[in-house]
Amino acid sequence: MKLTVIGNNGAVPRPGGACNGYLVQEGDSSILLDCGTGAFSQLERFIDPLAVDAVFISHMHADHFFDLVPYRYALLLTLGPKRPAPLPLWLPNGCGQVLENFAASFGGAAHFFGEAFALHEYNPGDVITVGDLSVTVVELRHFIPSYGLRVAGNGTLAYSADTAYCEAALALAAGCDAFLCEATMQDATYARGRAGHLSASDAGRLAQQAGVPRLLLTHIWYELDSQISLREARATYGGRLELALEGQSYDIIVSDGRPG
Ligand SMILES: [Zn+2]
Ligand SMILES: [Zn+2]
Repeated sequence: MKLTVIGNNGAVPRPGGACNGYLVQEGDSSILLDCGTGAFSQLERFIDPLAVDAVFISHMHADHFFDLVPYRYALLLTLGPKRPAPLPLWLPNGCGQVLENFAASFGGAAHFFGEAFALHEYNPGDVITVGDLSVTVVELRHFIPSYGLRVAGNGTLAYSADTAYCEAALALAAGCDAFLCEATMQDATYARGRAGHLSASDAGRLAQQAGVPRLLLTHIWYELDSQISLREARATYGGRLELALEGQSYDIIVSDGRPG
């Protein structure tokens, strides 16, 4: 299974970068986890957006879904007629209407998104199969409802979305081969995000407790030095530790390793 980091920023994209978007591929199957600000143009560097089999949105914060707008325009106005069926778009329960209300706020037509995407809503515990991949939904703790996504193919990847430290995040990561985990804060800025985010050392602690052999840090606040995040996660985690870098691909392989 291959993970390609389309965008990794929380809230504000760096110059030339993008907010959250993670392309996961196995065999002929491709899914996109989140589609935040700037992610659509970056996505086009790695895959024909029409070839994506499904898009999953973890929660309705702008840095995780705003680029559904250009995606919608592309599907409907420029690229879409070449796609045989609408692109499935999976949203948290109740958020189809949230998305359409958002479109109405800038004058979008009724069913602005629904006429380009096949809208679906998931619930915690759901397992959604897309070709060679399956996605399990885990409810986490954030400022608004937010859902971790556990993707299984040949290898298993847990994606934390945005979350505070919680038991559910541990359960999400346990048994996975790799944990793509948000590390918004650092120890010095921890108080700012405690209620809804993780620090890098939290991410390390979670991965260590969950017994995950590999940890990829993402969603690092753009003002922060990611090398410091790496050092802080290193202090709490003994396994294979990397930054989830924009434009970089990672092979997620089956592992019986432990973090050490
Ligand atoms: Zn975020
Ligand atoms: Zn958020």
